[in-house]
Amino acid sequence: MAESSWTEVAPGFFALTTAYTNCYLVRTADGLTLVDAGLPGTRKTLTELLRHLGAQESDIDAVVLTHGHFDHVGMARGLSGAGARVVVHPRDQHLARHPYSYKPATARVPYLLSHPRGVPVIAAMAAAGALGVRGVHAQPDVVDGEPVDVPGRPRALWTPGHTDGHCALLFEQAGVLLAGDAIVTLDPYTGETGPQIVAQAATTDAAMALDSLEVLEPTDARLVLTGHGEAWTDGIRTAVAQARRVGAH
Ligand SMILES: [Zn+2]
Ligand SMILES: [Zn+2]
Repeated sequence: MAESSWTEVAPGFFALTTAYTNCYLVRTADGLTLVDAGLPGTRKTLTELLRHLGAQESDIDAVVLTHGHFDHVGMARGLSGAGARVVVHPRDQHLARHPYSYKPATARVPYLLSHPRGVPVIAAMAAAGALGVRGVHAQPDVVDGEPVDVPGRPRALWTPGHTDGHCALLFEQAGVLLAGDAIVTLDPYTGETGPQIVAQAATTDAAMALDSLEVLEPTDARLVLTGHGEAWTDGIRTAVAQARRVGAH
């Protein structure tokens, strides 16, 4: 049920996928940065990837959280214990500490009942430990528009809406945007594929999430790596155009 795998999606960018949820290990000249921390069930895959790279958990220098939801925080506490610095935007610091405390715009259970294609995704997440994620004390060092002081120095792009402190991360030289859940290619709550914002069942403010797409568009990133779903290789502009067409849902 909790299938898990890794793949190198671009040179030095490794996607780890567990239960339709992605996090990314980025190998740079300065060290290893993990963007988002997946689910508890991702840890086995992370160990396999690190072994492939000739590294171990304690070699991960930093974990940057795009936001504080449970499916992006799963391994953070453990990796923090192994020595990684964990950082997040200040407005999601509380959520990272209490990953189940958020209030989506619509109640989740009735929403799932009316979107049955989302049920297998949520079941797979549960099997990968989604209900038992422990929070992490992340340092509030992710600042809008500034490079994050971690290996690779990605630029933080504050993209509120999905959560209050959501930030996408732009690796400018590589032309790679790690979008978190600001835009996804699979919506875990509906099972729908293609670029879109996340359903209102898991989003704080859908109108704001749509507005935040304006922050992503001018990056002109070639490759978009999302919190859920396949890598988008056709550039951020086409992804944003499609997400606007889908709209709030
Ligand atoms: Zn999320
Ligand atoms: Zn997510």
